[in-house]
Amino acid sequence: MRQLLDNCQVISCEGDGRAVALQDAAVLVNGATIEAVGRMDEMEPYRQQLEPNQIRNMGGRWLMPGLMDMHVHLSLALPGNGALMAQVENDMQLTMRAYRNALDALEAGVTFLRTVGDHRFVDLQIKQSINKGLLKGPRLFCAGHMVITTGGHGHGRGARETDGPEGFRQAVREQLRAGADLIKLAITGGIAGEHESISDSQATFAEMEAAAHAAHNAGKRITAHAGTAQAITQGIQAGLDCVEHGYFLDGWTVDLMAKHNTFLVPTLSVSRAPDYMRERGCPEWMISKALKAGEGHMKSYQLAVSAGLPIAMGTDMLPAENYDGTLAVYREMEWMVEGGMSNHNVLLSATKQAAELCSVQDKLGSVTPGKFADLIAMPGNPLENMRHLRGLDFVMKDGQVIRNFN
Ligand SMILES: [Zn+2]
Repeated sequence: MRQLLDNCQVISCEGDGRAVALQDAAVLVNGATIEAVGRMDEMEPYRQQLEPNQIRNMGGRWLMPGLMDMHVHLSLALPGNGALMAQVENDMQLTMRAYRNALDALEAGVTFLRTVGDHRFVDLQIKQSINKGLLKGPRLFCAGHMVITTGGHGHGRGARETDGPEGFRQAVREQLRAGADLIKLAITGGIAGEHESISDSQATFAEMEAAAHAAHNAGKRITAHAGTAQAITQGIQAGLDCVEHGYFLDGWTVDLMAKHNTFLVPTLSVSRAPDYMRERGCPEWMISKALKAGEGHMKSYQLAVSAGLPIAMGTDMLPAENYDGTLAVYREMEWMVEGGMSNHNVLLSATKQAAELCSVQDKLGSVTPGKFADLIAMPGNPLENMRHLRGLDFVMKDGQVIRNFN
């Protein structure tokens, strides 16, 4: 069925340098895809072919592609009370909780989630059920289990521990066998590990290289949780395509990333959320470790922005979780603006750039005829003020209305 989203301002996110919206516009959706986009007067011939119930007055809202969050753990349970939860839940409880988190994200306007490390392949199972049409949910792009060294970052929280190049190769192939869309390693320590520091290097060059070969041989990209410039430099030389967090980058490493076109998913929120962490039962050592990383984390992001690295938005929180008076995904995008990226580029980081990171740019990431009708809308203009995202009240995925002005 065709439907016309009439009377809206379209932020296409095509990334052609135009930071302006197409004003007084309409979008024609046919089934699951976008058929045409144009000014309201240009769309008159379509309007005449439609019944009144096929025309939706968007009330002048700002319309853009659905948000794509590049760093999500569906079964995320922060250390503190939550960590125990994921360990003691049986498979069914885990699955239902993780699915609920996916559904909440969709309703918040996040139509696509890249999952980067989960428990018991729950992300891949949920993805299958959504793709079969059994469950309503966002599109998922999944890493399965994070692959780490013995005792490495994320151990005890669903990650696959192994050592040596052979071990890494096998663990990557296990994820591919389960249907992983990408591979995620942890190559340094992180915030959420009591006996590790962000600056610890955990994986060897040979381990990273073996993992990257196995991923690339299967046509998949590989990313890593990584904190320091030194480890990231090695990782890129070993074949990493993307870096998560990048807490402590330096100019040399950023230049190397630019040369290799390495993506950065900065996840700025994780080092500036003390109340959020405290409410979830995180111990004080973890909170102070996070805050200590905060300044360097922001500076690294700023280096990456000025070097023009491809940057994709990721929360490392559940996208629809309450954080700082709003939802995590909106707040992350506000942080990205506060850090110095233009509003338009932040919108691109959550749409076009994200689609490129996942190699789905032919089908997703902009309001373009032929792409899937995954769309969101809000009364205010996010190009003017990112806080208008907080008013988001319309969500469509695959041409189906998920939220209708509520
Ligand atoms: Zn994470």
